[in-house]
Amino acid sequence: TSVDAATAIDACVRPVEDWPVQGVTFRDVTPLLAAPDAFGAVTAALADAVRELRPDAVVGVEARGFIFGAPLALELGVGFVPVRKEGKLPADTHRATYALEYGEATVEIHTDALAPGARVVVVDDVLATGGTLRAAAELVQTCGAQVVGNAVVLEIGALAGRERLADVPLVSLRRY
Ligand code: AMP
Repeated sequence: TSVDAATAIDACVRPVEDWPVQGVTFRDVTPLLAAPDAFGAVTAALADAVRELRPDAVVGVEARGFIFGAPLALELGVGFVPVRKEGKLPADTHRATYALEYGEATVEIHTDALAPGARVVVVDDVLATGGTLRAAAELVQTCGAQVVGNAVVLEIGALAGRERLADVPLVSLRRY
């Protein structure tokens, strides 16, 4: 594409100060989704970066991981598998619970969503502490599949999520 992904992210991801709580800068991707050149550039850059990992499936984490993961899976010619917040998936699930700043969260995956041994890339919009991607990795492993990489549009460098995911390659198009 003619648009550089990092330039598109700088231009189209909106920082919102003190949201949802004082001291946090929320990186709002909705303007990027509304700009097809920027959205396309980001999707293409993610695909180019993860192709060499030879994934058999893309796992996207609810909710913004769905938005980037679905076009990524199509671009790679592999299936898309959702990891959802608890209580949303209708068939048999595996569950993983992880710590948030206050309290905890539970995510689920369908038990039959991934073939045993499948090579999986897990996608989300923003990497902060890495807790969400770690929980998704636990679910992938419980299915008997393997995480061969994580991919995010951008990472919050100060939170060092990258270090918690150091066992596999991390694709991140921008660091703030
Ligand atoms: P974490 O589990 O700490 O890596 O948090 C990642 C999840 O929370 C992702 O699903 C992000 O969408 C969301 N998130 C955390 N921090 C931010 C932020 N500063 N801006 C936008 N989204 C964030």
